[in-house]
Amino acid sequence: MTDRVIGIDLGGTNIKAGVVDLEGKVVQSGSIPSEVDKGREAVVKNICHAAEKVMKDAGVKPDRIKGVGLGVPGTLDLEAGVILFSPNLPCLNEAPIRDLVSEQLGVPVVLENDANAAAWGEKWVGAGKGAHSLVMFTLGTGIGGGIIINDEIVHGSNDVAGELGHQTILWNGEKCACGNIGCVERYASCPGMVRRMKAAIARGEPSRLIGDFEAADITRAAQAGDETARRIVEETGRMLGTVATNMMHILNPEMIIFAGGMIAAGGFLLTPILDEVKKRAFEASKKGCRIVFAELGGDAGLIGAAGCALKAAGGK
Ligand SMILES: [Zn+2]
Repeated sequence: MTDRVIGIDLGGTNIKAGVVDLEGKVVQSGSIPSEVDKGREAVVKNICHAAEKVMKDAGVKPDRIKGVGLGVPGTLDLEAGVILFSPNLPCLNEAPIRDLVSEQLGVPVVLENDANAAAWGEKWVGAGKGAHSLVMFTLGTGIGGGIIINDEIVHGSNDVAGELGHQTILWNGEKCACGNIGCVERYASCPGMVRRMKAAIARGEPSRLIGDFEAADITRAAQAGDETARRIVEETGRMLGTVATNMMHILNPEMIIFAGGMIAAGGFLLTPILDEVKKRAFEASKKGCRIVFAELGGDAGLIGAAGCALKAAGGK
């Protein structure tokens, strides 16, 4: 009987793997270094090793595994099972990763972009449970995203849909790392927020923050009453509310979910998001659309990857 799926969240530093049951509960999980500097063969070996280790730790034999879902940061050719380009895993560019891992493990492997996988995880058992159509923004070093419409991840014609962070928020704004101008990622990602905070301090605005600090320090300062930090977080929320409105107008989802470390800011971030949506969105788009924070934290990627494997195997 096959009653388990494996989810793998492949990152530039670590590989997280988990044995997940058919209800989306993580039975066993673990993490090992990716060892990107050792080259393609080593990384593939580590992916397989991570999967085998969690199976062993959970006491689950391969004949119980329905499939493996592999979440990868980067652009993919899903039909061919190939990673086209991954900035954090350059040794895997052009690698036929799906078949390499499947051959070594002896079970079917499904490839998915990591942000899409995380969105699927939230839909399966997290904040989006029960929804059929949702958009999820993941706020971190960049702004990633996943779009699910009518229970299907939207991949687009070329498997590169869902680049939510690279929608333009200022048509004549600053240049983004992607080459576009004025992307929301440039302003509302963690580094974007830090840059705006440092600019405010340089202009002489009062703040308890000095020297080098991270986005989490800004949200903590905001919570502790630092007015400048509070304004920077609020403006971040307003930008995110603006792009959430874009998604509502274009896609009419049931839910918009925000994920990533930044949501630790709580109401300081969510309130301006909701205010901005209230100001901007069509009544019909707002009707029935819930805007919430994610629930699965750092496990969303591996749970979602497992969910993609289950779906591919004909499960939920
Ligand atoms: Zn961009």
